[in-house]
Amino acid sequence: MDADKTFGENAYYVDETVEPATIARLLNFGVQQMGLGIIFLDVNRKCVYANRHAFSLLHAEFSLESVYKAFKDWMNSLGIEQSSAAWTRLFESQERERLYRVRYRYLLDSNNKPIGYMYTIQNLSDIVENGTGEQYRLTHDELTTLYNREGFKEAAQNRLRETDKRYILLYSNIKDFKLFNQLFGLEKGNDILINIADLMIQHVKEDDIYGRINGDHFAICMPKERFVEKDFKKLVREVTSKVTSKSYSLHMQIGIYEITDPTMDITLMCDRAYMACKSIKKDGVCEIAWYSDEMMVNALLEKEILSSFDFAIINRQFGIYLQPQVYSDGRIFGAEALARWMHPDNGLIQPGVFIDVLERADLIYKLDRYIWELAALQLAKWKDTERDRIQISVNVSPKDLYYLDIKKEFTELINRYQIDPALLNIEITETAVTSDVTKCAKLILELQKAGFKVEIDDFGSGYSSLNMLKDINADVLKIDMGFLRKTENQNRARVILNYTIDMAHELGMSVVTEGVETLEQLEFLQDMGCRMFQGYYFDKPMPVEEFEKKYESPE
Ligand code: C2E
Ligand code: MG
Ligand code: MG
Repeated sequence: MDADKTFGENAYYVDETVEPATIARLLNFGVQQMGLGIIFLDVNRKCVYANRHAFSLLHAEFSLESVYKAFKDWMNSLGIEQSSAAWTRLFESQERERLYRVRYRYLLDSNNKPIGYMYTIQNLSDIVENGTGEQYRLTHDELTTLYNREGFKEAAQNRLRETDKRYILLYSNIKDFKLFNQLFGLEKGNDILINIADLMIQHVKEDDIYGRINGDHFAICMPKERFVEKDFKKLVREVTSKVTSKSYSLHMQIGIYEITDPTMDITLMCDRAYMACKSIKKDGVCEIAWYSDEMMVNALLEKEILSSFDFAIINRQFGIYLQPQVYSDGRIFGAEALARWMHPDNGLIQPGVFIDVLERADLIYKLDRYIWELAALQLAKWKDTERDRIQISVNVSPKDLYYLDIKKEFTELINRYQIDPALLNIEITETAVTSDVTKCAKLILELQKAGFKVEIDDFGSGYSSLNMLKDINADVLKIDMGFLRKTENQNRARVILNYTIDMAHELGMSVVTEGVETLEQLEFLQDMGCRMFQGYYFDKPMPVEEFEKKYESPE
């Protein structure tokens, strides 16, 4: 008993001169007054205590066996596991339906050894049924009993009106929660949400307003002074570890908006915190990002891109820049067609700005199809001129593989513009290939049969580059020098580069190194046996007219 006195939040103090039996009677008196049904089990899951509320809530006869049996029968009929941490369900008795909220806790001693289990049963029926019932239903989430969006909005607005303190709004997202639901079922998904809500109830402080906004998104509005990022992360890790199993670990992403104008609409604050949440790219158990105005600028830009994209395609605002691909002596053999947006108001927009946005919105296939057509048109124009042996490479986004019949698209272009397929090269990124090797291997083979050359773009940027090569028989490997720039260990990177070039040659593939910026780079690449290059050292991507002027007679 002594040791438990120091056991954190469960600490208690008794006068040790009083007999344990008296203490037990006093404690029982307290427990009876709490208005909760309480059931204790020992470590062998034998019921050793139940208060009178538990008996009456469960309509049980006066024995511990009968009350525990009634409780277990109820759980079984609902298909709830005995170890579910918290749940709220209807209990159907003879007279009427009742809504009970149940919590389950392991009880541990000061050495973290289990000493038993406790169930608490709270009767919510009255709140739901009496005069405030309708209001309760409108402002509370049925599953977790927390505030819902409406309730949170109202309560947070009221709190902000009353206080002078600086508040922040936290908005959480469980990464890939949809996938979890698909894999393990809705019931298990709900269990996790209820668990989180329950753990939240245990940890929030009086000043905090919290709720479940929708789906797997929870929000807390709390004073900024109390928020310590390190402690909060630790707490979230503890919470997530409680709902983590062998087959699933929870990744929490939390976006924070610092409230500068307390009269601002709470929904807007939630949107901003969520924007911060969505900016998280890392994959830790708990990642936190604070909202910044830059995020808003990006989100607006993204919206603008998406809303003006269709118009831009129809009005031919997209065009290609060509970046020469050359041999070491500067002789040209090809060019890569790179998309550019000639925006009437904003000028020239680089692909770095719009490609990702279009990919995320599943619209990239529209742009790519258009760019491929521009490249085919260019090859048709060069036919029977001094540039008729210059090849053009075009990019295929990973998403195109799902939205388009790639082989059909390219053969149609060849037929429509009457061009040689050996001049229209198809770049597929390594990451796209590794996402579905079997499908890509088949596609690459079909394209090669139709006369096209297939290039693996950005080779070495993924994690399974070598593994992929045993199944994929491409014509060209494009290695981006960027990977040399990104590493501290130049020597090791160079050794890898050297072997990759040798290996590609041995597998019958050509190698184009792109991103070549200096003479020094060119020289060591030549030493490694590389013969084809693309990079600023030779030329930057340029408008078609400029390219044509520069390479009037290629040889
Ligand atoms: P990518 O296909 O790997 O294209 C090469 C990128 O590297 C180009 O950037 C090019 O300008 C840049 N680059 C070339 N030489 C150098 C150099 O020496 N140093 C450095 N630092 N960079 C160099 P760009 O044009 O901004 O395109 C970026 C990416 O956008 C492309 O990477 C490609 O993934 C994507 N992209 C461009 N056009 C299209 C398109 O029509 N469709 C699709 N799906 N993606 C495209
Ligand atoms: Mg490329
Ligand atoms: Mg590349």
